[in-house]
Order: sequence, then C-alpha cells, then structure tokens
Amino acid sequence: MQYNALGKMGLSVSALGFGAAPLGGPYGQVTQAEATQAVRVALDLGINFFDTSPWYQASEEVLGEALVGVARESYVLCTKLGRYPSTEKPSGEFDFSAARVRQSIDNSLCRLKTDQLDIALCHDIEFAEDFSQILDETLPTLRECVAAGKVRFVGVSGLPLAIYPKVLDQTPLDVILSYCHTSLNDNSLWDLIPYLDEKSVGVIGASPLAMGLFSDTGPQPWHPAPEVLRLACLDALAWCKENGFSLAELAVAWTLQNAPVATTLVGMTNEAQVRQNSAVVGTLPDPQAINAIQAILAPVQRLTWPSGKFH
Ligand code: NAD
Repeated sequence: MQYNALGKMGLSVSALGFGAAPLGGPYGQVTQAEATQAVRVALDLGINFFDTSPWYQASEEVLGEALVGVARESYVLCTKLGRYPSTEKPSGEFDFSAARVRQSIDNSLCRLKTDQLDIALCHDIEFAEDFSQILDETLPTLRECVAAGKVRFVGVSGLPLAIYPKVLDQTPLDVILSYCHTSLNDNSLWDLIPYLDEKSVGVIGASPLAMGLFSDTGPQPWHPAPEVLRLACLDALAWCKENGFSLAELAVAWTLQNAPVATTLVGMTNEAQVRQNSAVVGTLPDPQAINAIQAILAPVQRLTWPSGKFH
C-alpha cells in the first residue's frame, strides 16, 4: 500500500480508501459478516482510511461493528453530518443547524463505537437551504466539537466544485471530499488543486467508478447521470467485455495512478473487491485499453449532473 499526507493534519492515509456507503445497501444488500470480512481484509492489506455517513443508512453501525476490537489508532475514521435518510424525500433530509450537528456527532460516535472522530464533513453542502448557515452556524458548531475533543478535523463535501471556493474564500477548512470528478470521464477536480493547495486543504477524492457508472454490471437505476453519459459508459463496458478487460479494475487503476489526491475512496462491498482494488495500487492500467475507453467517453468528457443549488 502507498500512503500520503492528508493536508496539514499530520494524518498519513492509504492511497486507496474504504468508502463505506455500500455497507448501507445502495448497490445491493450486504450482510454484517461480508462487511466485517471486507473491512478486516482491507486493514490487513494496509487500507487505513474509512469513510461513512448517517446518510448511508446502516453504514455507520455496520462499520462500527466491523471495527470492534481493532486498535483505534490504526485507522482514520471520517463521517459526515447534515444529510440524513428520509422516508418522504428520496434525496434525503438536510439539516445543518447547530442542534442537529451536536446530536449527529454524538449519534455517530455511538454507532461507530468510538469517543473521537478523526474527520467530520458537512455532507453535500450544495443542498443547504441557506448557504451562509454552513459558514455561520454549521462549521462554528463543528469547531466546538473539536474543542470538546469529539472531532479532530473538519471539512465539507459535495458534487459541484463551485462549493469549495465559496467556503474557502471565507473560512479555512482542514479537508474537503470531492466525488465523481477524478474518474475516467471527468477529472475536473484537478483544475482546483492549485487553489486547494494554496489553502492548505487536504483533498479526498471519491468514486472512481463514478458511483457504479464504471462497474462491470452497469449503474444502478437510481444513478443521477444523464442518459447520454449512461449510454457512453455502457459502450465502454461493452468494449471491455469484448476485449477481456474489467472496466471497474481499469477505472480504479487509472484514478489511483493519476488523481492528485491524498486518498481515493472506492465503495467496496466484499473481500473480493477489496483484494482486486488493493492489487492495482501502484500499477499502470493497460494504456491501449485506457485510450480506447477514453475515445468512447470523449463526447461525454466532464459531463456531470445537477446537485442542490450550485452548478
Ligand atoms: P464508487 O464509484 O466507489 O463505486 C462503488 C461501486 O463499485 C459499488 O457497487 C461497488 O460494489 C463497486 N465496486 C468497487 N470495486 C469494484 C471492483 N473491483 N469490481 C467491480 N465493482 C466494484 O462509488 P461510491 O461507493 O458511491 O463512492 C465511494 C465512496 O466515496 C463512498 O462509499 C463514500 O464513502 C464516498 N462518497 C462520498 C460522497 C459525499 O460525501 N457526498 C459522495 C459519493 C461518495
């Protein structure tokens, strides 16, 4: 495994990070036994960064259970606040208020069976009703949690890249998490790296499979990508099948090789995926296959989808 410094926090994180969203079931049900096995094998293979959220249904509880008995100092734990499952709204409930932040952090500590979170991120801040609440209420409350010793470092996550300068021009952050912008068809996060470096922010990249667009079975029905992007990815998948490649493996390898981030979070549901993804760390994906896929994806380069109020 390779390790990188995450910003200026003094944290050394594995180049491949464990995205625990799938442990909550969005890509199909995962049993506790499968999850525990995946997490334990990940640790054995040197993965030391785990990311979850209350938004990911049972993910925090399942991850907390999987980590029982593992030395706390041997892994870096990141969770989020502000976005929660809702029975009424498929996109979830958003609450970035001070009271909910405090309650959310306490709930996460309980579900993750720990007394300190390494990183707490405001989850998908582009959905905040009033963006100034993030600056004036959510982040100051999180900093109180830092002062109380419940959290070590704070940051934000979301899809539109415009959210990051919107926050960082006003207030410092330890870390940001950007997703679906370090993948085969969209590397737009890279343009923002000089700015983020100037702000001394740690950068977590997530979703090299673009939340399943580059999986070997195609995306889930809930995937928000526009049809033209879904179809282009299915064409890339067909090319891989005809030519004996795993699109998922190429996608993970390409991002790990190229993305200028400290860690890349891949959502993993089982031991086999952990082993497959760990095996490509430090390897070069087949250049001809990458050229062929990027030619197929050329018409949909940097095509993304709406999320919240910033685009
Ligand atoms: P992803 O792009 O990592 O893809 C996950 C999918 O790929 C799952 O179906 C998984 O089973 C499959 N997969 C993984 N490895 C595979 C392999 N070797 N072969 C075949 N299939 C494989 O999407 P993701 O899980 O949504 O994103 C990664 C992580 O990043 C999340 O788990 C979460 O921790 C984080 N994330 C955060 C935000 C946010 O903060 N807003 C958004 C997206 C993701």
